[in-house]
Amino acid sequence: MSQGDRGPDVGITDTASRDTASGDVASRDVASRDVASKGEVHVVHLYPREMSIYGDLGNTRTILVRLRRHGYTPVLHDHHPGGQFPSRAHLVLGGGGQDSGQARVQEDLEVIAPRLRELADAGTPMLMICGMYQLFGNAFVTVDGTRLPGLGILDVTTQGNPRRMIGPVVLRTDVGDVVGYENHSGATTLGPGQAAFGTVRSGFGNNGADQTEGARTRNVVGSYLHGPILPANPRLADALLAGAVPLATGAAFAPEALDDSIADEARTRQIRRLVG
Ligand code: GLN
Repeated sequence: MSQGDRGPDVGITDTASRDTASGDVASRDVASRDVASKGEVHVVHLYPREMSIYGDLGNTRTILVRLRRHGYTPVLHDHHPGGQFPSRAHLVLGGGGQDSGQARVQEDLEVIAPRLRELADAGTPMLMICGMYQLFGNAFVTVDGTRLPGLGILDVTTQGNPRRMIGPVVLRTDVGDVVGYENHSGATTLGPGQAAFGTVRSGFGNNGADQTEGARTRNVVGSYLHGPILPANPRLADALLAGAVPLATGAAFAPEALDDSIADEARTRQIRRLVG
């Protein structure tokens, strides 16, 4: 991990921690940086308690840290079941979870569905991993036959299976080769006309059969890739930021030159190891 290992504890306004002593420290730090800030970007993490397994919290940390390094002021909103969805949302993140975690958030997801659909239609970047990817589709039928209806933002349908798809993955995508790690029982099928996020070079992907991985509609990306995916693939992180910044500030994303050499080297080695 090159960026995600520093955690959202320094220089980041975190609405969840504002009431605590450490939140005060974080806010003061942000205030001192605001002079040079290119603007606030509001990031929503959906269900961090129920849906953040296999290190997917690292995606949120990466987004917050990269925003700050690019000169913006990140504001994190953790959205929990029963909570009020934040009024400002420029980028939305969701992670993986067990079938039981998915069942726990499903009711709330129905409540916030109109807002998420509106944001998706307006081009808001979203990254949904594994369990949340499945719930952004039409439905997930678990291995024991329970049907969890999804949002239908992505035209995909998922069927749970006794055989899990587990292992490292390499994809070809619009942002270059992407590496990660998958662990899912659900086999996902794309609807007619639904674009995949990537093409599988190594691994199972959506279903182990058709070489597709994930799905993409406008700026909404669903993928099975843990790792977590963003620190290992900073170009994907910056592609999400390039979509979020204009919504937040009205101006194009103006990135700084960041040193991603460690992430790039790790990814290159993994690709060489898996596909030669
Ligand atoms: N419960 C889902 C499955 O196994 C999602 C798993 C995950 O998020 N890693 O298909």
